[in-house]
Amino acid sequence: MGLSELKIGRLASGGVITNYFCTSACRHCLYNCGPHWEKRYISVEVAEENFRAVKALGCSAVHIGGGEPMLRPEELGSVLDAARRSGVSIDYVETNSSWFKDSESAEKLLSGLRPKGLHTLLVSISPFHNEHIPFARTQGVMDAARRAGLRIFPWVAEFIPDLSAFDASRPHALSEFEVRCGKDYVHRILDRYWIHMGGRALETFRPLLRTKTLEHILRENTTSCGRELTDTSHFHLDLFGNYIPGLCSGLAVARDDLGNGLSPDKYPLLTILGAKGIRGLFYFAAREYGFRPQRAGYINKCDLCTEIRFSLVEAGYDRSKELAPVGFYSRRTLHGRTSR
Ligand code: SF4
Ligand code: SF4
Repeated sequence: MGLSELKIGRLASGGVITNYFCTSACRHCLYNCGPHWEKRYISVEVAEENFRAVKALGCSAVHIGGGEPMLRPEELGSVLDAARRSGVSIDYVETNSSWFKDSESAEKLLSGLRPKGLHTLLVSISPFHNEHIPFARTQGVMDAARRAGLRIFPWVAEFIPDLSAFDASRPHALSEFEVRCGKDYVHRILDRYWIHMGGRALETFRPLLRTKTLEHILRENTTSCGRELTDTSHFHLDLFGNYIPGLCSGLAVARDDLGNGLSPDKYPLLTILGAKGIRGLFYFAAREYGFRPQRAGYINKCDLCTEIRFSLVEAGYDRSKELAPVGFYSRRTLHGRTSR
């Protein structure tokens, strides 16, 4: 192909995704997680291989995320055991608190995971989460974590007053926040919360942001995506043994290929993106798969990239395994909504 190989070398900071199924389908979720995914949790073997790979590439602590890792607490315990055996410590486990039933059972569950290496719980707090999870459950988990002797990482505490203004016993739609706090409430969240424009966030924010035409996107993005794809400052390895390059959800590198040059034959799409960026992907998809833009405007190059990748999957692209996991490319998951 004549394009140079990408290489993902030392890993700086990141996490292991135990599952993509989730009780919620938050409108900002980078990985399009939700209840529609297959109910598959990471096996102990894959977890251990992931931890060993992470360690071999220079990283000795990771977080555990999902999906919702706490939906299978026993299996989470086995994952924590695997981390310990591999010499990798756990920075924190993320939770959306949906599993909370009562104080006693929550404290018991968390106390049981503590000796296995759970010391800090990242508790998700945002209006997006509150669309699916009553804030009382979030508060219940934080109280139980305190009693179990865990540190709490409230992400993000700034939203506590917003959520506290409503009845904590039930979820609240974003429209309720808009009524109370102003029509631009969701847009203003971007100034208060780190949201990466990928996955479902694209659907949520596209109508609220100024978009650019396809021509504009191609004109202003003439460089490669090599920097983003090889950034290891927020990496993830998942239950399928896939490494997600950068924050480019829906793209995958086999864990066992980390540390080596990615062959253009095995990774044609990443090679194109790494050499020619979004322009390369667009011209490839247009030429080989008849891609035509489906929107009048895009937020940025990643918005266009995601649309192209969806269209490749739907056109039966099978030249490589880079477009994974398959659940990411489900329209049902993309627009997933849970019942309240
Ligand atoms: S952001 Fe929401 S949908 Fe995504 S994994 Fe977290 S709780 Fe689940
Ligand atoms: S355009 Fe695609 S490959 Fe490039 S940074 Fe965005 S999502 Fe990643």
